[in-house]
Amino acid sequence: MKIMDYFMIITNILKIRKKILIAQNRGSRSHKNVELLAVSKTRPFTSIQKAMEAGQISFAENRVPEAIEKAAALPAAIDWHFIGHLQKNKIRKILPVCGTLHSIDTLELAQQINRIAGEEDLFPKIYLEVNIAEDDAKFGFSAEGIRRDFDALLALDRLKILGLMTIPKFTANPEDSRKHFAALRELGQSLSAQFSTPLDGLSMGMSNDYEIAIEEGATVIRVGSEIFGPREQAK
Ligand SMILES: *Cc1c(COP(=O)(O)O)cnc(C)c1O
Repeated sequence: MKIMDYFMIITNILKIRKKILIAQNRGSRSHKNVELLAVSKTRPFTSIQKAMEAGQISFAENRVPEAIEKAAALPAAIDWHFIGHLQKNKIRKILPVCGTLHSIDTLELAQQINRIAGEEDLFPKIYLEVNIAEDDAKFGFSAEGIRRDFDALLALDRLKILGLMTIPKFTANPEDSRKHFAALRELGQSLSAQFSTPLDGLSMGMSNDYEIAIEEGATVIRVGSEIFGPREQAK
């Protein structure tokens, strides 16, 4: 990587932080604290180290072996999040590395994480992934499914449920995602009221649409390419 690219990473993070503040001021529903999660999947260690120089501490990976390798090589101060589809046979490996899992998409997966967290004496933080746009190509609970399973999810004593997460389909016009972000917020409010439990977290918004997600109440945005540049063609 060229020297220039390193400066770009720092500049990009500072620009995004400013855009976050502006979006927060614009949106009447925007949250006081919006966490910027740097999606470092496929990026080299050096890029992550540069982002740390801009004060970035939270990073996200979507593949278990890559997360393990990076966590072992990079400073222990990093707060690693997992944002990929998690296979059950990888739970025991990822739990000690990533304290927060954004992509819990079935009750059965949550139950297995709860059991293994008990065996490993861990208390993972989780977001429940909702396929709010009912996109056949995406993982996640349906809105009815999460309501049906919510009592059983709340009973999992090792899991700290922070909120809901969604990945709308990519569209050229990010305004198309606004209705899905709003629907996720409304679902969270409705579950919180029905089950008398706080459910404030909303993990939503990526490089192309995070400002809209913030206006609609995102508490965590997951940004990769706007920090690190375009990725090689995603899998
Ligand atoms: C890759 C990825 C992101 C980041 O995408 P960018 O468009 O590069 O910002 C966010 N969330 C999830 C779940 C991802 O897999």
